[in-house]
Amino acid sequence: MAYLLKGVSILGAEPTDLYIADGVISAPVENAEVVDAAGLVALPGLVDVHTHLREPGREDAETVETGSRAAALGGYTAVCAMANTSPVADTAGVVEQVWRLGREAGLVDVQPIGAVTVGLAGKQMAELGAMASSAANVRIFSDDGFCVADPKLMRRALEYVKAFDGVIAQHAEEHRLTEGAQMHEGEVSTRLGLTGWPAVAEEAIIARDVLLAEHVGSRLHVCHVSTAGSVEVLRQAKARGVRVTAEVTPHHLLLTDELAAGYDPVFKVNPPLRTRSDVEALRKALLDGVIDVVATDHAPHAVQDKECEWAHARPGMLGLETALPIVLSIYGPQWELIADRMSRAPARIAGLTGHGGDLTVGSPANLTLVDPSARRVVDPSELASRSRNTPYAGMTLPGRIVATFLRGEATVLDGKAVK
Ligand SMILES: [Zn+2]
Repeated sequence: MAYLLKGVSILGAEPTDLYIADGVISAPVENAEVVDAAGLVALPGLVDVHTHLREPGREDAETVETGSRAAALGGYTAVCAMANTSPVADTAGVVEQVWRLGREAGLVDVQPIGAVTVGLAGKQMAELGAMASSAANVRIFSDDGFCVADPKLMRRALEYVKAFDGVIAQHAEEHRLTEGAQMHEGEVSTRLGLTGWPAVAEEAIIARDVLLAEHVGSRLHVCHVSTAGSVEVLRQAKARGVRVTAEVTPHHLLLTDELAAGYDPVFKVNPPLRTRSDVEALRKALLDGVIDVVATDHAPHAVQDKECEWAHARPGMLGLETALPIVLSIYGPQWELIADRMSRAPARIAGLTGHGGDLTVGSPANLTLVDPSARRVVDPSELASRSRNTPYAGMTLPGRIVATFLRGEATVLDGKAVK
């Protein structure tokens, strides 16, 4: 199928006509299906380096297919699926299974992340080489959900992935400082009498890991940075030339620990929501590039795991279908910034060639069309995810994803998933 996106604005530029044929942005062709794109902005397809798709193991919360659909509706053309499934994605067999399910769903490119340690147990390094050379072509490894706490293991993993330009994505949490933690440690946790998760538990691990990465000359990626102190550690490391990249989630860019006061578990997440000054520091760090990407940490949970007492609820929130609207609500139509932090940089970190490219003739047609003037109220019952744990229910957000194309095939048209 060929398409003509009539009157589209590429990254906010003057309206033009953009043709898609044979999977690429093309020169004008005959018989293209016309999409009226007046007032719409084309962005390179978004790329998420941190998604939980829950399959295999928790298909009641999400499947590769439902998560892929949520991603396409959010403007994504590629997502990296975290390894904390059941079984854990710590072998070539499991990562190939996830990769194959992604291909079958055919809505976004699903790039599996491999576990760093067997069973995420932090004891024994998983078969990183086998996962890298498998059909899934794994390049990011992470024990996300848990921190790779053992410095010797972390060092060995960093050394190991150098051979194939892999990267270790660390969930930075000194578990001995967060035992029993229910929320950010600060004024609000004291007031509520809840055990706190101190900022230093994140900052201490990031400081250690940037030194390890510097020592072995390898690539480190820091998941879901949440504190102003972490930003300063990263700023200094980058200034020294350490090969470190970092992500921030939409929720850490918007929400604060004050929300815990209502004890609604939809706001329980790990790392926890922090203070207003942390939020301000994170927003600035994304702008100036100390933080490289926005990653969703899309974490679907079944109703029984989330709609219960705060103390027993699982941490995590949905993110794929609301990430771009949240970023738009914070930064406004800064399309270059959005394209870089939500598409180009994440594609580069994940090694996903074909994504995050320029929308020029001959490039793979991985792109999304946004209506920046539209606003919508987030209604959990309208989300494509199998779960409902969005913290944005009832909020009015700017920006509607009108269409998404994966290698020239529409996955979303008129704001609806094509399949
Ligand atoms: Zn995590």
